[in-house]
Amino acid sequence: MQRRHFLASAALPVAASVACTARHDIAGSFTGIDHTRGHQLRDRRTWPAPAVTHRTHTVIAGGGVAGLAAARALRLRGQNDFVLLELEDSAGGNARGGEVGGLACPLGAHYLPLPSDDSPDVQNLLEEFGLRQRVAGRWQYDERHLCHSPQERLFFNGAWQDGLLPVQGVGESTLSQYRVFSALVEQLRRAAKWAIPISKTPPAPVQRALAAITFVAYLEQHGLTDPHLRWYLDYCCRDDYGAGLSTVSAWAGIHYFASRHGFHAPGGEAAEREGLLTWPEGNAWLTRRLAAPLGERLQTGCVVLRVAQHRHGVEVHALNTATQQVERWQGQRAIVALPIFVAARVVEGAPEFLRLAAQRVVYAPWLVANIHLREPLHDRPGPAPSWDNVLYGAAGDTLGLGYVDAMHQSLQPVPAATVLTHYRALGDVPGGPAAGRKQLSEQPWTMWRDTVLAELATAHPDLPAKTTRIDITRYGHAMAIPAPSSSGQIGFQPAWNMRKQLSTKEQYSLQADRLRFAHGDWAGYSVFEEAFSLGHGAGG
Ligand SMILES: Cc1cc2nc3c(=O)[nH]c(=O)nc-3n(C[C@H](O)[C@H](O)[C@H](O)COP(=O)(O)OP(=O)(O)OC[C@H]3O[C@@H](n4cnc5c(N)ncnc54)[C@H](O)[C@@H]3O)c2cc1C
Repeated sequence: MQRRHFLASAALPVAASVACTARHDIAGSFTGIDHTRGHQLRDRRTWPAPAVTHRTHTVIAGGGVAGLAAARALRLRGQNDFVLLELEDSAGGNARGGEVGGLACPLGAHYLPLPSDDSPDVQNLLEEFGLRQRVAGRWQYDERHLCHSPQERLFFNGAWQDGLLPVQGVGESTLSQYRVFSALVEQLRRAAKWAIPISKTPPAPVQRALAAITFVAYLEQHGLTDPHLRWYLDYCCRDDYGAGLSTVSAWAGIHYFASRHGFHAPGGEAAEREGLLTWPEGNAWLTRRLAAPLGERLQTGCVVLRVAQHRHGVEVHALNTATQQVERWQGQRAIVALPIFVAARVVEGAPEFLRLAAQRVVYAPWLVANIHLREPLHDRPGPAPSWDNVLYGAAGDTLGLGYVDAMHQSLQPVPAATVLTHYRALGDVPGGPAAGRKQLSEQPWTMWRDTVLAELATAHPDLPAKTTRIDITRYGHAMAIPAPSSSGQIGFQPAWNMRKQLSTKEQYSLQADRLRFAHGDWAGYSVFEEAFSLGHGAGG
């Protein structure tokens, strides 16, 4: 019912407008990720014997936030004898940056909420990078990187409104459902601790119960059927988890609000707008700084093929994509900072907890389109262009999540050329994530160009005419979707979730110095703080 409503109201106008807004002369390409490198692991059975052998103390496999955090933790401990092997030509994983038309833009992750005291590792990192400092006994963040006002707006009923919760012109029944949901979040906030990272606190019984059902089932239980409320909650889930409220667990739906964003019904307690850090190049601002001190210890273009542990150490084989040779790394231990599905493929004799996690994890595919505009867009009356700009009704199937303006933090007095970064989560397309991945691998970039421009043109009719280039980054396995689990298990972290199911030998392999696992996937959902804390723990 919900989905049909959206399709009727949103998809048809978009489809109808493709023909009149498409500009076939707009240049662009797929960019950012070399899929052939990862797919070799899946498609190729045999590899030549290693041509060279290197020795180091610790091998880190994977240079996303988790792998980079592990490297930082090693450095802080004075353990400098390590190597980090990364498949792409630069580190950062989902938090890398690029540029279009000479302007910096994110290729994936683009913001970091101000971390709470539950994330001391992230707080310390921000202090190290000069983003957070103590002034007269109080913590202050660097104003240049705190998201400037206006932060977000929604294109709703043909006009922009402030904030993302639909409020302009909605009826009393909608407002009353907002209040009911807000009260439920508050109640659950008091009933359990909703910390990030989640490993801080073992889940309470109420959280396990929520993890066993879908978010939509929870809303049904509480009679929350209002379409505007449902649209907003669905948007939030797709924006953070890559899939909507029919797919994610009720735990995930509540965690989104209770752990950091809050849910503020109009007329309720006045909410301060959430503080967050953002940069033109997105979270690449952070990952580039994490990678900078590594020097030659960061080996990019290296596809890890095999991780084996034995009594006296570990052995890691990696394909050097520059020389096309397989290289052997011998060390005392390895930190596997790879997505779970890759880890299960490359770790020899994968322990039971890893195999179980790989069977359960479901990945959301994502697409990010960076649209270079030669001049600012005309705007309609209402709130000014914001950092995050979302179109109501764009939900379900293949529709998107609006755009952020990469130049929003710029202090230039007059708006000029910019890059809009459009996000599209494909976890809920008909046929599920596998069908989303198929679309990503089969559709030409021009199809995505025309679809994205047509969708955004509903709010900005002049956008196609002002677009000079559009670059598209595809993530087949972007992030673990926090789907319900019949056992009420949250995430895949063996430390507190699965310890009882581990044999003594496996517990040893998890905790012993030889092999450690770190990646956002282990939290069951993906945000910077989870990936960073897991990596830091593995390297510490
Ligand atoms: C489109 C998008 C937008 C996002 N936006 C945000 C946001 O705004 N804020 C936020 O907090 N989070 C966001 N996230 C979540 C993001 O995933 C996390 O913040 C974080 O970057 C995850 O880091 P990770 O190290 O766990 O994983 P990954 O980024 O997946 O890192 C894994 C690394 O391993 C490498 N690798 C894989 N296979 C191999 C191999 N065989 N050999 C060697 N290396 C290999 C990969 O190339 C990658 O560099 C977003 C994610 C996506 C996809």
